[in-house]
Amino acid sequence: MEELVALCKRRGFVFQSSEIYNGFAGFFDYGPLGVEIKKNIKDLWWRDVVRRRDDIVGLDSSIIGSPKIWEASGHVAGFSDPMVDCRESKLRYRADQVFWARVALAETGEVLGAVSVMESGTMEAEAQAAADKMKRKAAKQGALAPLDLKDLTQATAEDLSIIPSPATGNPGTLTAPRDFNLMFQTAVGATVDGSNAAYLRPETAQGIFTNFKNVQQTARAKIPFGIAQIGKAFRNEITPRNFIFRSREFEQMEVEYFISDDDDAWRGEHQAWLDFSWQWLLSIGLREELMGRDVHEAHKLAHYARACTDITFRFPFGQSELQGVAARGAYDLTQHQEASGKGMEYFDEATKRKYVPHVIEPSLGVDRLFLALLTSAYHEDEASSARHLNGACLHVGGEKRTLLRFHPAIAPIKVAVFPLVKNKPELMAKAEGLYKQLSMRYNCFWDVAGAIGRRYRRMDEAGTPFCITVDFDTLEDDTVTVRDRDSTEQVRMPMADVIPYLDKAVHG
Ligand code: ATP
Repeated sequence: MEELVALCKRRGFVFQSSEIYNGFAGFFDYGPLGVEIKKNIKDLWWRDVVRRRDDIVGLDSSIIGSPKIWEASGHVAGFSDPMVDCRESKLRYRADQVFWARVALAETGEVLGAVSVMESGTMEAEAQAAADKMKRKAAKQGALAPLDLKDLTQATAEDLSIIPSPATGNPGTLTAPRDFNLMFQTAVGATVDGSNAAYLRPETAQGIFTNFKNVQQTARAKIPFGIAQIGKAFRNEITPRNFIFRSREFEQMEVEYFISDDDDAWRGEHQAWLDFSWQWLLSIGLREELMGRDVHEAHKLAHYARACTDITFRFPFGQSELQGVAARGAYDLTQHQEASGKGMEYFDEATKRKYVPHVIEPSLGVDRLFLALLTSAYHEDEASSARHLNGACLHVGGEKRTLLRFHPAIAPIKVAVFPLVKNKPELMAKAEGLYKQLSMRYNCFWDVAGAIGRRYRRMDEAGTPFCITVDFDTLEDDTVTVRDRDSTEQVRMPMADVIPYLDKAVHG
């Protein structure tokens, strides 16, 4: 992870927000290369989810809406995470992300203490390792009772007196868990008495539900159909962690797919959205061997939800949720119908029946997908001239190469143009002509500085799939070399063939 974060800063993908003021936890800024990737992700999603499907239309609803929306949706009362404080360090933790285990002697049951560990993708392994350490220490005093890992929401006051704080390691310094609402509050208008409180949306979904009738009627949409939205969401996360995986400001790409209220309709539609989402993620370059599915157990679902399956990804810190696909029944539309008094029913002309539609919700974070794509693409090459001496790998003559193997459609720069030398005006003119022509279609990069090998390395690290060199032969026969980032192979082709060649790679 450290390597990815360092690469992101070094090459201008992602910066810490407010860096000159020592940063601001949970917020990030996307630099010149990062903003291109984000835009590519969103454009591809919009193309494939909205434009290429005739059962889905788009929407761009406001970030701040009536606070009544969030009362009706249940967010004011229930969009919270359990929080504990460490009284000594004043640090706060999500209680469901701190795991602990009691360590006790088997024979007498005498409690020797407890271990605790913060959640990360490998939390269970970490906690187990910490517990094993304590076990070994305690083993000297006798056999040990088996250890159970629980999170802090399952700790009694007595447990809390022996569980060490993850911050200080001292037992008895954690408060009891309490609910912390994740919505950011703001005030709208000039009144200062608190009566004008409003919220920054914590998800884009509710803007879709509140516009259900507007969109359905104006688009004359027939069930099943979906409304898609891409936009910012804000959550005052207790512990924003793991770089852009969990931040306080992020972007979501969500669909609410409205289906019949038939009791069995959701199963097929839910599966279809899981399959569609999986294939789409593969199509933009996620490595399938890093992907997984996490089917939520029935007793852990919200009372209204029929099912929820996460598509997970093996991030550098462990396997975690990338996208959720939930079958939410008619809950949201029903809530808004009751709270607003406005009908949310759909009239089915075929059956002459009126009903509140059910919904399937695929919800994907742009920033999480960005991190997943970066993780998938990150690769280091060993130069072929590496030699081994006493077990150590020495790079003799060759260089270690860091490259980002992005799908060409995701890559922030599609192609770089290099004139071989800069002191030959005809050669420079040819290269400039090609660069201008390519810039009309793609984000291109122009580089005349340094040896060609160095220029290639810089582009490999930025994830640029193709580099074109204009050399002396170009002046003779109008051909150029196109070098492939992943294989490093170079093919010679007429300049006129370059655009069709790149188009095929980028657009398929
Ligand atoms: P988590 O359990 O990780 O907090 P969640 O289940 O609350 O996530 P959802 O409410 O289902 O997340 O949000 C849908 C998607 O939005 C997630 O799958 C994720 O991609 C993205 N997302 C949610 N919270 C964040 C965040 N704090 N930072 C970045 N992306 C997020």
